[in-house]
Amino acid sequence: MILCGYRFDMDRVNEELEQMGAKKALLQLPDGLRNKSHHFKNKIHCDLDIWGGSCYGACDLPASIRDADALIHVGHSEIPNLEPSYPVIYMEGRSTIDLDLPDDIYEGLEGKVVALYSTVQYLDQIYGLEDEFRRRGIEVKYGEGDDRIKYPGQILGCNFSCRTDADEHIYVGSGTFHPVGLSLSLGERVHVFAPGTGELKSTEELVDGLLRRRFAAITLAEEKDKIAILVSEKPGQDRRELVAEIGMECDVVCMEEITPERVDSLGYDVAINTACPRLALDDSIRFKTIMLTPCEYKITKKEVPWDGWRMDEIR
Ligand code: SF4
Repeated sequence: MILCGYRFDMDRVNEELEQMGAKKALLQLPDGLRNKSHHFKNKIHCDLDIWGGSCYGACDLPASIRDADALIHVGHSEIPNLEPSYPVIYMEGRSTIDLDLPDDIYEGLEGKVVALYSTVQYLDQIYGLEDEFRRRGIEVKYGEGDDRIKYPGQILGCNFSCRTDADEHIYVGSGTFHPVGLSLSLGERVHVFAPGTGELKSTEELVDGLLRRRFAAITLAEEKDKIAILVSEKPGQDRRELVAEIGMECDVVCMEEITPERVDSLGYDVAINTACPRLALDDSIRFKTIMLTPCEYKITKKEVPWDGWRMDEIR
């Protein structure tokens, strides 16, 4: 099925449901598809309940699927090192766009080895670029990620372990957080090509902006003493092992859903976020509470020097 410019492999999902003898499944859709459940309902060969809660990523599976036999999680790829307590069928959404990179990219490259990266939505497109790079005498690399990553060249907003040595790095996809995170994780610039708009840019200015905002937050937090550590109940964002590392003098707050309203109403000046790294690095402007990563908190305590700032990643 093709929906909103993405391909969903319904046949494979139906085969898996049949193999497991599932009579009923729970369907979990990401934000962009929440109001499209009827398209899936018509094509899935078993009873279907709809999950109405959040779906930020494959890290965000429901705690339980009640009386269903399996969860059908749409849009994201599996996180291989997550072990849900019930069967999950991942129905990835792969973009159907035809991708040709503009000549400017090839002509502006320095060196002969390029690493390509994307989110799961555009992986088919970056794999399809290899021949064109080869034809132009450029070697292409797709880095292998760690256990949180399913495919070569794939990045998540919380994991850039596909980083690999290359003369240049190119990210294909929408948005800026993923390539900025990749650039900070690599310590090198990344060319960003947005397939939807055809826009081409480099991460250099974007990285400076993010670092300036983060260093301002660290400076503000240095003078505060009402501090909490936020721990997520979502299995794929649960890093409670960091609590001992950060320091027991802070209150530990366990949360299912970490939203500005819920965090701000707790009355702390600073929240050290151990859940999805994007909450501190990308969304902090939405919070009145100063949101820090664990590494940033250590900088306020002088346990890590300022130049020891690192991108927060989940392994
Ligand atoms: S933890 Fe955040 S960045 Fe990582 S997969 Fe989940 S939502 Fe995406």
